[in-house]
Amino acid sequence: MSFKQILGHKDTINILQNTLLKNRLAHAYLFQGPEGVGKLFSAINFAKAINCLNMGKDSVDCCDGCESCKKINSSSHIDINIIKPLKGKSGVSIEQIRQMQSQVSLRPYEARQKVFLIPDAELVNNQAQSALLKTLEEPAAGSIIILTTSSPESLLGTIISRCQVVKFYHLSPGVNSDILSRRFGIEADSARFLSHIASTGMVDISTHADIDVMNEKNRIIDAFMGFLDRPQKELFFLKSSSDEVLWCLSILLWWYRDMLILKETLSPDMIVNKDRLRDLELCASGYNSAHIGQIINSITGASQLIAETNVNIKLALTVMAADILREARYA
Ligand SMILES: [Zn+2]
Repeated sequence: MSFKQILGHKDTINILQNTLLKNRLAHAYLFQGPEGVGKLFSAINFAKAINCLNMGKDSVDCCDGCESCKKINSSSHIDINIIKPLKGKSGVSIEQIRQMQSQVSLRPYEARQKVFLIPDAELVNNQAQSALLKTLEEPAAGSIIILTTSSPESLLGTIISRCQVVKFYHLSPGVNSDILSRRFGIEADSARFLSHIASTGMVDISTHADIDVMNEKNRIIDAFMGFLDRPQKELFFLKSSSDEVLWCLSILLWWYRDMLILKETLSPDMIVNKDRLRDLELCASGYNSAHIGQIINSITGASQLIAETNVNIKLALTVMAADILREARYA
């Protein structure tokens, strides 16, 4: 894999290639952006390009075929270190950071630059972050440290200010769909649906890529419609984990969004639930756009509360369900 095979992130990769081209490598980088968009993957390719024996011959990219590239591909390059929490631990420990510190100042064995890569740097515990700061304050020629994170607010501000920040953004549904098809080999309809779910940024879709996505989402939609018909029954995902709840809410969000698109544009081309066009038309005929808009607001509000705060999930869902039932009744 090389830069040219990374889907999306064109501007971000351009920045990295420019630093390589001008030979202006920083001693520390923070790859910052949403989860699951390819920060670690890009960091490994950056490490490969930095050390590729053929870098710059044809392009500002790694060749994927030289000794250095092959060793990094097989995780056997002695100068490329990935620092992750040890088995059974939730965070990178201060001992691991101290060990890294002792190696940073040593010259590379065979690489141009040693690379120390810390994925999900928010998992470095507080004490270890202070040790890491010390390492960043004493940069050593011949070593580059790359941190990745989706929650920079969990890092010491002084760590961030010592790093060159490289920003990654959400991928467009089209790019996501491509990645899902290639990486997980899932069929086009499912990939397309998942990519839209991913674009909300609230669900880690990689955990849903191995199930029968289309059946699963239809089961959730049908169960919710069943609940609207018989609201005296308990909402079926009331007791699920927050990840599962967000997954269900994302599916419902796209369902109502599709209804709104059908009402406003009459264009089935733009809808996500193409396999349920008849049902969507039927449901949409019972609502006006303002009601659907309110329902979308309720689902979005509940999703944000659950994703971003410690709200009582059951309470947030009960309020949301009451809002939706009210709109359904007035519709
Ligand atoms: Zn190479």
